[in-house]
Amino acid sequence: MHYCKCALYVSSAVILLDSKAQQTELEWISSPPSGWEEISGLDENYTPIRTYQVCQVMEPNQNNWLRTNWIEKGDAQRIFVELKFTLRDCNSLPGVVGSCKETFNLYYQETDLEVGRNIRESQYVKIDTIAADESFTQGDLGERKMKLNTEVRIIGPLSRRGFYLAFQDVGACIALVSVKVYYKKCWSIIENLATFPDTVTGSEFSSLVEVEGTCVSDAEEEADNSPKMHCSAEGEWLVPIGKCICKAGFHQKGDACEPCGRGFYKSSSQDLQCSRCPAHSYNDREGSWRCDCEDGYYRALSDPPSVACTRPPSAPQNMLYNINHTTVSLEWTPPADTGGRNDVTYRIICRRCTWEPEECFPCGSNVGYSPQQSGLTDTYVTITDLLAHANYTFEVEAVNGVSDLSRTQRLFAAVSIATSQAAPSQVSEVIKERVQQHSVQLSWQEPEQPNGVITEYEIKYYEKDQKDRIYSTVKSKSTSATVNNLKPSTAYIFQIRAFTAAGYGTFGPRVEVTTKEESTGSGEQNISFCSLRRHCGYSKADQEGDEELYFQFKFPGTKTYIDPETYEDPNRAVHQFAKELDASCIKIERVIGAGEFGEVCSGRLKLPGKRDVSVAIKTLKVGYTEKQRRDFLCEASIMGQFDHPNVVHLEGVVTRGKPVMIVIEYMENGSLDAFLRKHDGQFTVIQLVGMLRGIAAGMRYLSDMGYVHRDLAARNILVNSNLVCKVSDFGLSRVIDDDPEAVYTTTGGKIPVRWTAMEAIQYRKFTSASDVWSYGIVMWEVMSYGERPYWDMSNQDVIKAIEEGYRLPAPMDCPPGLHQLMLDCWQKDRADRPKFDQIVGILDKMIRNPNTLKTPMGTCTRPISPLLDQNTPDFTSFRMVSEWLEAIKMERYIDNFTAAGYSSLESVARMTIEDVMSLGISLVGHQKKIMSSIQTMRAQMLHLHGTGVQV
Ligand code: AMP
Repeated sequence: MHYCKCALYVSSAVILLDSKAQQTELEWISSPPSGWEEISGLDENYTPIRTYQVCQVMEPNQNNWLRTNWIEKGDAQRIFVELKFTLRDCNSLPGVVGSCKETFNLYYQETDLEVGRNIRESQYVKIDTIAADESFTQGDLGERKMKLNTEVRIIGPLSRRGFYLAFQDVGACIALVSVKVYYKKCWSIIENLATFPDTVTGSEFSSLVEVEGTCVSDAEEEADNSPKMHCSAEGEWLVPIGKCICKAGFHQKGDACEPCGRGFYKSSSQDLQCSRCPAHSYNDREGSWRCDCEDGYYRALSDPPSVACTRPPSAPQNMLYNINHTTVSLEWTPPADTGGRNDVTYRIICRRCTWEPEECFPCGSNVGYSPQQSGLTDTYVTITDLLAHANYTFEVEAVNGVSDLSRTQRLFAAVSIATSQAAPSQVSEVIKERVQQHSVQLSWQEPEQPNGVITEYEIKYYEKDQKDRIYSTVKSKSTSATVNNLKPSTAYIFQIRAFTAAGYGTFGPRVEVTTKEESTGSGEQNISFCSLRRHCGYSKADQEGDEELYFQFKFPGTKTYIDPETYEDPNRAVHQFAKELDASCIKIERVIGAGEFGEVCSGRLKLPGKRDVSVAIKTLKVGYTEKQRRDFLCEASIMGQFDHPNVVHLEGVVTRGKPVMIVIEYMENGSLDAFLRKHDGQFTVIQLVGMLRGIAAGMRYLSDMGYVHRDLAARNILVNSNLVCKVSDFGLSRVIDDDPEAVYTTTGGKIPVRWTAMEAIQYRKFTSASDVWSYGIVMWEVMSYGERPYWDMSNQDVIKAIEEGYRLPAPMDCPPGLHQLMLDCWQKDRADRPKFDQIVGILDKMIRNPNTLKTPMGTCTRPISPLLDQNTPDFTSFRMVSEWLEAIKMERYIDNFTAAGYSSLESVARMTIEDVMSLGISLVGHQKKIMSSIQTMRAQMLHLHGTGVQV
């Protein structure tokens, strides 16, 4: 604050006594009474005044006192005394002796009260000797041209309530014209919006009185700058410091603060002016420090009152998404309306929904968001760790600084997404239940995210020193397993992974276990196992093409199929799995068929202590080679490992006599294909589905054991007297050679093409999934009562048609659900095919709900198969045989057909290859082309009319 030495304000005196102003007699005390004398006169303006005069100049030793009345001093500390008087020059007085004086003395006496009328000289304090600046020489005292002297004296500081003034004359000729007594004050003032009160000056001449100001109404002190001023001895305000400022909602007008008008605001005392309300805000009161937002508009906490009110943004636009198993990425563009703000971010709301009834729940904390779930500044996000096969809804909401204040409906962009299959997550919690010399028992927790039904666990293990160059695996259906045949005192590493329909999960962490030391006389027994060299579907060796050593162990729960070929001595294998029967227990009755190795007979088996049972006896013809013997018995080694009501049961073998025999439970109705053909149209759909269910259950058992059949076909299913179907005809891959349906393919080996999945034909990928394909063909065979799959089409054409997407149409009167199941079994990608377990489940459901198997009679009940070749002409649209031949560019044979009497396409559709040949068409290529077209025509007719064409 600047310091100003100059006086700001004119001072104003407070008069305590003014002799001139008094019209009546003053009645001061004069002592002796002959001294000072009160005389009325006129001043220079002819105003009547009261004066005191004395003029005892002729006599020596004068001492005349004049005392004022008592003067109450009030607030005063310093008193001013102003005297006006005239004084006569001694020299001008004729005959005056030496006693004439030209001065007088001024005194005062302080008292708290008035005292008596006596003047005690000793109690008076002398203020000064007063001399005249000018004296006059002519005329009387009343003369108009007298010279008036003015003298001012100051007294103080005073401490009593009042005082008297006294004038001592010692022989002068004086007229006291006026006596004025006053003190000085700084008068109340408003400066810088602060009020400063009336202030009496200080007692010393040099002192300044500091005075605090009080802010005027609706003003406040400026921070750390309270208003102050200084009252000088002269009664002047000096040095203003600090100030007051108008409060929020008020502005300064002159020395006051006035409220801001309507539609205006002032948010802070610091602001000088009131401002107009910002956009989307208003006020209808005076004196506002801020404006209210219009409806639907808001101000964020951090928004100053000076900014416009804003609103939440509109929804994000153009949302796109991408699903990759259990990861979803979302992308969008910013909202059309940002609400007037530039702090728009995005947040993701994830909900998982149940299918039926559709209910959605928050996704919870297991789901990951990259870069984050909320506060996203970019317009994309990746959401990870979703559950597989689940329905999700994602909402992307644009938010800004006022979104949370808004009570209006949230605006967002949303998508509903179903995640796809994902393999199970890791098995991480593994417990060592029991550690022995040769075995380790482990248990574990189901993975946190199974992503489906876990059908199996795989336990991989290897000796720690070996690293995992050579490892072994065992499988378990439960969450525990015992791994046997381990070496004692050896450190092993175990890792576990889970398997679902979506495939294997990744292996969990390595668990190290050291087996116990070998002790003599151990009670532990190794269970049987055999080692084999083969490709394993799960090993890295499979990709690299080299072979690795594998162990397979039996373990509780699931029996694993063991390939008898791995036995060096096939006899050992046979006796491992098949019971040696005494030939004398077997009675052969009659020949019922012919097998590859010899006749098949029926007969009876009577074991000691048991009822005799009907059996089929397969014999090995005389003159067999050792290899033939081995291959013959191989079937028994395989069959002997199985024990399931839908798998043909082995009673035993006779190897120690001649002929060598395999004795099997008797299946009265023989093979399924022949049986169905014999009873064409005689069964209900439920009976047929019951047969299919049995076959599927047998296959589920075999696939669970790890056995891949490779030659599943109706001809290899046997039927007993109760219509129970059992899977039969077991052999190693090359045993398929004996299947008359098997043909050589370019990949080597013989394959029953019509029953075999493409990957098995093309690169010998035989798996349970390829067995499922074959099972679909068996379904078709069953539902069409033993019709030949793909009719008379050549194997080459079948392969071509399948590759081009053609699939067998539904057989006559086949319920759509069953045909759909067939189509599912014929999915190109083997991972998409159902598992036998699922097939059994689906068939069971159908059997329980026979309504699902109903087919309305006489209507087109077959689904339009999307798998029928789209490029093939629709032969059913042709009316004439000639049109058809033209369409297939075989018009040269029109006459041949006409001559033989084939006038309608219906009659053509019934033709066999022999019929075609009999027309005199000798070129094999043309025969094939015509026959292939006839087969397609047949399929189309079947598809269109739901009627079969009898061939
Ligand atoms: P396979 O050598 O197994 O193909 O048998 C040849 C034929 O013998 C089959 O087609 C059946 O007709 C008949 N057959 C084989 N095993 C049995 C059996 N267990 N019960 C009745 N017939 C059988």
